[in-house]
Amino acid sequence: MSPWNNSITRDLFDQVMVPTYNPPQAIPVRGEGSRVWDQQGREYIDFAGGIAVTCLGHAHPRLLSALQKQAAKVWHLSNVMTNEPALRLARRLCELTFAERVFFTNSGAEANEAALKLSRKHASARFGAHKHEIIAFEQAFHGRTLFTVSVGGQPKYTEGFEPLPAGIRHVPYNDLAAVEAVISERTCAVIVEPILGEAGIVPGDPTFLAGLRTLCDRNSALLIFDEIQTGVGRTGELYAYMGLGVTPDILTTAKGLGGGIPIGAMLTTAPIAASFAVGSHGSTYGGNPLACAVANEAVAIVSEPALLAGVRARHQELTDALRLLAARYGVFDQIRGRGLLIGCALTERWQGRAREFLRMGLDEGVMLLVAGADTLRLAPSLVIPQADLDEGLRRLERVLARALASEPSRGDGDG
Ligand SMILES: *Cc1c(COP(=O)(O)O)cnc(C)c1O
Repeated sequence: MSPWNNSITRDLFDQVMVPTYNPPQAIPVRGEGSRVWDQQGREYIDFAGGIAVTCLGHAHPRLLSALQKQAAKVWHLSNVMTNEPALRLARRLCELTFAERVFFTNSGAEANEAALKLSRKHASARFGAHKHEIIAFEQAFHGRTLFTVSVGGQPKYTEGFEPLPAGIRHVPYNDLAAVEAVISERTCAVIVEPILGEAGIVPGDPTFLAGLRTLCDRNSALLIFDEIQTGVGRTGELYAYMGLGVTPDILTTAKGLGGGIPIGAMLTTAPIAASFAVGSHGSTYGGNPLACAVANEAVAIVSEPALLAGVRARHQELTDALRLLAARYGVFDQIRGRGLLIGCALTERWQGRAREFLRMGLDEGVMLLVAGADTLRLAPSLVIPQADLDEGLRRLERVLARALASEPSRGDGDG
């Protein structure tokens, strides 16, 4: 007899999965647009977007068609041969951005890994091995490989994994003077999220990001924008850099890029790309035809001006509604972010308790996200229909009412 459960339930998770996650009881089985249904047929409004990934919602007809068409042709060849979908997607990304060259990966962390390795290679070939320092920011998130957790600025993600890669310096975000104090001829790259994502949806100050460009130029260092979360229309621009007037040397993209199919990419210029030669870097699955065919369709849809205008309109509507909820319930106050990447900063009384709202959200039929322990994060589909946006907000309001009801008033000033 099998020692495992016959049925597929949350209990089975603890029996067969490495315990890196602690998912809730509900197991979604189907999604359409911005609605998702679990095993019991309960319906949820999706304000989470699979962590800013399903940018066109679930089962988008055009993505489904691209996937099915390519699935009937060829799924995988490896990089021993090139393929049409990868070339089409690379050409599209070059047409739409500053980039002249593209390297495909399967995830965001791998895109950053490629960017960091390319920066080191570029600097060592041109200037020598001393130019290897990477400047990154406290609280930043760049992925979970050893190099990317080391570059990320959250010590909890590197604890116990030492020894870590060397030559990485961390300074406070939005603090240009701190960067100026450590950048030097030894710096090969500065890596930055235009909006700190995992750390609470903290937008980079435009003057800070422009200042990084100037400091990098002065020190012959590369500027890497990690747009894994902010890219592919999320902020109301195809990429956030486009609204900032700051062009990076390398840009990493993933999450929304495939609309839910795992794919990432590193974008750069021709001269920088030339620091990688045949054999310098690689990936078995990176640039596979199946993922690239879906991503090509996703980028084609998201880059339409009307879609991006729709993201900006929904931002206005959603943040207006959230401000009303903030005033009515006092659970969160500051509303941060751009486009459909929105953070609601919990008030003092609710500090550290963001995750409790995820559970209450599921009880009320709305899928929410957190960004750190003190911020609720919303990252719905970029094309979420009006009715779903309204219904999701009604359910969110019930969550806030429920939170207050479960918590006897402690009076003013009692944090
Ligand atoms: C999600 C994320 C990553 C990591 O992407 P994975 O696909 O999980 O490897 C890196 N950087 C940022 C800014 C992210 O939001």
